[in-house]
Amino acid sequence: MLKKDIRSYSCEAIENFMVENGEKKFRGKQLYGWIVKGIQSFDEAINMPKSLKEKLEATFILDNIKIAKRVTSDKDRTTKYLYELQDGHIIEGVLMSYKHGYSICVSTQVGCKMGCTFCASAIGGIERNLTAGEIIGQLYTVEKDMGIKISNVVLMGSGEPLDNYEEVLQFLKLVNDPKGYNLGMRHITLSTCGIADKIKDLADENMQLTLAISLHCANDEERTALMPVNKKYNLTALMKACHYYTDVTNRRITFEYGLIAGVNDTEERAKELGKLIQGMLCHVNLIPINQVIERDYQPSKESSIAKFKKVLEGYGVTTTIRRELGSDINAACGQLRKNHLDD
Ligand code: SAH
Repeated sequence: MLKKDIRSYSCEAIENFMVENGEKKFRGKQLYGWIVKGIQSFDEAINMPKSLKEKLEATFILDNIKIAKRVTSDKDRTTKYLYELQDGHIIEGVLMSYKHGYSICVSTQVGCKMGCTFCASAIGGIERNLTAGEIIGQLYTVEKDMGIKISNVVLMGSGEPLDNYEEVLQFLKLVNDPKGYNLGMRHITLSTCGIADKIKDLADENMQLTLAISLHCANDEERTALMPVNKKYNLTALMKACHYYTDVTNRRITFEYGLIAGVNDTEERAKELGKLIQGMLCHVNLIPINQVIERDYQPSKESSIAKFKKVLEGYGVTTTIRRELGSDINAACGQLRKNHLDD
């Protein structure tokens, strides 16, 4: 039987556990304080009685993310992690170092069921959702491992965050809790393939996080061929949800557009995109697609990317080109996990 994941609990939920188990309520706040410090065993909570630590040990798992492998890029110090979960599943994550601090890319599911044709995370389908505690556990684990404090979080590892809505929402609340981890919402980016209904739900939460939409194509027929989610939520439904999101939150949306040579990088595609998002509170991040061995996709040439950018700017759309990090260690999109599973 899997133990319950204490890192998923809010301070209040831990307080309730204490009271229900005949302990003083203040022990809840005490333990929560230790958890957000990243302790890996209940023994580290030095001001708690031994009997309570034993009870906690028997009921909960604390160290829910164990490092299975770590590879650091010689080029830019980007570090790719493979983590092992309580039930033996493997997930991945990346730590990036920028001038303004450390940014971590976290996974939200083991595998993914969205089936985007260019994404290696989709190849094996989905195994299960991560718990909120397993998502925040990735932060605790890396901070301990590196002796650092993380300043930005992107939900862009494997999995579709909005397909694991409840746990991801709980994660966001935990990571943002001023009495807990206390990371500002503006330091968090959630990336989705476009589950329109959930985008609306997220808008209603009115949090100040950054929403990134993996758009990749502004033509319904071709987007469906790349991203099966487009069958259920086509561009009209997606854009309606995006407009709702910017109206409610007044936050600028990031559209991610991975350029695949000869597939979605033509001038015509750039014009379609320009027309679709012209005048919106948004910007576009162009990403030369990372080659996935299993698929026959090549990244666009620099000249095509520059041209694509120019066309978009002609529509008044702010456009950036994403800097590539960790290219020498497969620090992108499920590649390392896949290699590991194939070993
Ligand atoms: N499911 C979410 C988050 C995980 S993917 C989403 O779809 O947004 C994170 C980002 O990596 C997405 O924009 C995704 O489209 C992109 N991506 C996937 N495979 C890629 C590849 N081979 N090259 C470049 N970006 C890729």
